[in-house]
Amino acid sequence: MSSPIEKATPYDQFNIEIPEDHFPPEGISAAAAKALVNSEAWTDANPMLNLSSFVTTYMEPEAVEVAKHNILKNYIDHDMYPQLFAMEGRMVRWLHELWNGPKDLEPYGTATVGSSEACMLAGLAHKWNWRKAREQAGKDASRPNMVTGGNVQIVWKKFLRYFDVEPRIVPLKPGNYRLTAEHLDQYVDENTIAVVAIAGQTFTGEDDDIQEIHDWLDAYEKKTGVSIPMHIDGASGGFVNPFLYPDYKWDFRLPRVQSINASGHKFGLVPPGIGWVVFRERKIFNEDLVFYVNYLGGEMPTATLNFSRNAFQIALQYYQFLRLGFDGYRRVMQHTVDNAQHIRDVLVQSGYFTIMNETQRIPVVALTLNKKYTNFNEFDVSGKVRERGWVLSAYQMPPDAETVNSLRIVVRPHMNHNVCSILAQDIVKCCEYLEQHGGNSTPPKLHDTHKTATSKC
Ligand SMILES: *Cc1c(COP(=O)(O)O)cnc(C)c1O
Repeated sequence: MSSPIEKATPYDQFNIEIPEDHFPPEGISAAAAKALVNSEAWTDANPMLNLSSFVTTYMEPEAVEVAKHNILKNYIDHDMYPQLFAMEGRMVRWLHELWNGPKDLEPYGTATVGSSEACMLAGLAHKWNWRKAREQAGKDASRPNMVTGGNVQIVWKKFLRYFDVEPRIVPLKPGNYRLTAEHLDQYVDENTIAVVAIAGQTFTGEDDDIQEIHDWLDAYEKKTGVSIPMHIDGASGGFVNPFLYPDYKWDFRLPRVQSINASGHKFGLVPPGIGWVVFRERKIFNEDLVFYVNYLGGEMPTATLNFSRNAFQIALQYYQFLRLGFDGYRRVMQHTVDNAQHIRDVLVQSGYFTIMNETQRIPVVALTLNKKYTNFNEFDVSGKVRERGWVLSAYQMPPDAETVNSLRIVVRPHMNHNVCSILAQDIVKCCEYLEQHGGNSTPPKLHDTHKTATSKC
């Protein structure tokens, strides 16, 4: 008689029922668990075709090995893994230099889970510094505000609400999707903890007018004596600008820029989740925000919102910096931006689209359908190309540009020119089909937070 094991067929592993609303009563084999998990995700998007996300979806085999080698390490345990901690410190210094931090100042910064955590830490530092200065001057310190453009990523709205800072969000308008100095006088005052400007924004890929905002704040200080720092949200631009546009001053070369964040898992080319925040100098990160603990053996400082986190992304960021070097990043970013330009040219020439990002710094192509096409919209195009596997986001722009829809393509470093041509042709074919047959998508209704958080004060 054969044992059940011998009788088992490869199909048995799929023939297991997963309970919907109670905890699985007993275990199954590793092979069966693997098959079940993988099969449940079969209908999810293919990450290689996900051009809706900015986050890394390609790793070379050696990087996978490095990840595996470090996956069981808790990064926060610096006493156990001091060498990983040393890598982080070295990378903070490299980034400070890459972002043109003054050489005579002591860099300070940290790896985070993503730019979100990095932005929160920077926001807290500015809130603390503002409050300290106000208290020292004997002034009211109860009503901090922060000024951003309506194009900010959701993390800033979270920061403002979670940490009780009044949002002063300058609305966009159709045709202008960036923060400029134009209306700052209506938003900035002595209670402004910082102005956040973006390098490589989420909606169109553009940069805010960083230099103009900086100069406006200089003039404001001359006039009022109130000095307001800038934070640069370089989630995407932080790993593109230094390599491609060395003469462009978006970073610590501007004296008012006190902190910069970037997503290691976007154009830093590491899988999720890693981000970075780097301060112009040590003293900007208020010592009151640092805690010292000794639970894990040895006293260590901790100043991140998360405590435990995986170490593999830190090791992989180090791997990528060593593997690619400045020249490697430059080449990767150049071919990716060239591919973005190619897709942009084909789509504009097709006659269907108008480009939304005037300057093409990061490899993002943001398009809006030309007005004459009234029987389908950007959401239809996104839905239709999905039939070919491509994932492109379509969305309404933030207030007061919400009448404009966008179709966005985040061109990824793992795509070559041919693949980009196929994508561009697929989009044009979908438009031709939709022009003939019409579409039926209505823009999804946005929850109130997207709308109301933009009010001035
Ligand atoms: C992605 C992004 C964020 C949030 O970053 P995560 O790394 O996803 O946490 C913040 N700001 C901008 C401009 C972004 O593009």
